[in-house]
Amino acid sequence: MTNLTDLTLANARDALKAKKISAVELADAFIANGEKHNPKLNAYITLTSDLAREQAKASDAKLARGEAGALEGIPLAIKDLYCTKGVQTTAASKILKGFKPTYESTVTQKLWDAGAVMLGKTNLDEFAMGSSNTTSHFGNVINPWKRKGDTTDLVPGGSSGGSAAAIAARLALGATGTDTGGSIRQPAAFCGITGIKPTYGRCSRWGTVAFASSLDQAGTFAHTVKDNAIFLKEICGHDPKDSTSSLNAVPDFEAAVGKGVKGLRIGIPKEYRMEGIPAEIDALWEQGIAFLKDAGAEIVEVSLPHTHYALPTYYVIAPAEASSNLARYDGVRFGLRANGSNLQELYYNSRAEGFGNEVKRRIMIGSYVLSAGYFDAYYKKAQKVRALIARDFTQAFEKVDAILTPTAPSAAFGIGENNDDPIAMYLNDVFTVPTSLAGLPGLALPVGLSKDGLPLGLQVIGRAFDEETVFSVSGAIERAANFNAKPEGF
Ligand code: GLN
Repeated sequence: MTNLTDLTLANARDALKAKKISAVELADAFIANGEKHNPKLNAYITLTSDLAREQAKASDAKLARGEAGALEGIPLAIKDLYCTKGVQTTAASKILKGFKPTYESTVTQKLWDAGAVMLGKTNLDEFAMGSSNTTSHFGNVINPWKRKGDTTDLVPGGSSGGSAAAIAARLALGATGTDTGGSIRQPAAFCGITGIKPTYGRCSRWGTVAFASSLDQAGTFAHTVKDNAIFLKEICGHDPKDSTSSLNAVPDFEAAVGKGVKGLRIGIPKEYRMEGIPAEIDALWEQGIAFLKDAGAEIVEVSLPHTHYALPTYYVIAPAEASSNLARYDGVRFGLRANGSNLQELYYNSRAEGFGNEVKRRIMIGSYVLSAGYFDAYYKKAQKVRALIARDFTQAFEKVDAILTPTAPSAAFGIGENNDDPIAMYLNDVFTVPTSLAGLPGLALPVGLSKDGLPLGLQVIGRAFDEETVFSVSGAIERAANFNAKPEGF
């Protein structure tokens, strides 16, 4: 038997069903890895080892009775943006430190209903705002990967950096993330693992701490495309508690993974060949194109003419929605309450003390673009441009079945780099944000290594509610790339 923590989610599921391993021994192996590596990586804000053992025991009983759910006994990490009943949920913010929700988010409830086991709550950028996991009140997450011959600590990407690092370092078999502008795909690329943001509306947002409600979407991280297909299916579906969650049936994503790409048309958007992108990222993209051609797909150049406006549009809309969503943290109902001699002062002081700098920056941008004199010039204009960006994709998808792009414009960077330059930090999302604005599914998978030995990834984008084609295309790339590099020491 290989090391239990080296299993894929699919293999662990099969081994549990065949009773070759028990849920308790599997959970124990991951708990031990967490205790060993988390003090250095800081991937988890909260470890829930006792709860994991309890759930694993219940899973073994269900497996013995032949009543196993689709994820029975699978140990998962949960991004600390999902409310978990009775377990601290912080959004990595000081303002929510110690907050224990009295209810469970729909996504996590679905996971427990499917038999999954919770190892802990993972670290993130504060309120999911960031691309480096360096804005968390609970400290930076360290990427398990290092540059060749260099001990510099690197960022895991963000905002779901803790979830991505936990998978790469084998501290869980799968992890939930959320993606508003790239927060699943960019960290997956930086950590050499696979992650998917499904179509907007595929998953309920109920019980997930809100960042920008018209963009926020739940999704998954795991080692392989198939692992993500199995995992994602369990969190999708309509929820009466979230009117934006879709009524569409949830297909068998797993069956799509091995389907191949014969006869599929794959779009290559010419506007994504940007100046200043490292040559090795272009080369990786070419390699991905060659893999798909060899597997029988037809490659078609497409145009997404408004790509250039995606980042500024996102950085108007997302902060606008964030400034409104964050108004609820007033020191009265949740988390941190500062002193004040009257109500107004209590609000001011609680928010001043509770929110970090990046969150305050977003609140200020958001309030500005929504203010009476600027609403038309910024927010309304951004909404119009957003519609044009979505239309670009609709037109491209008249010609192609999926689109292939790089995931991020660089490999993982050092902690502290880009910190005093918010614009450089925002550029991380250049390839992921258009998909988010259009509400489309995007999957990021590792394809090769940079010259420094760091993972680099590609992104597969699909039509709305066509995650199946995304999984088929990604499966074909994964088989051809055969990426099996691992960070050292895990
Ligand atoms: N990096 C982007 C931002 O800071 C995306 C974050 C996300 O998807 N949650 O807004």
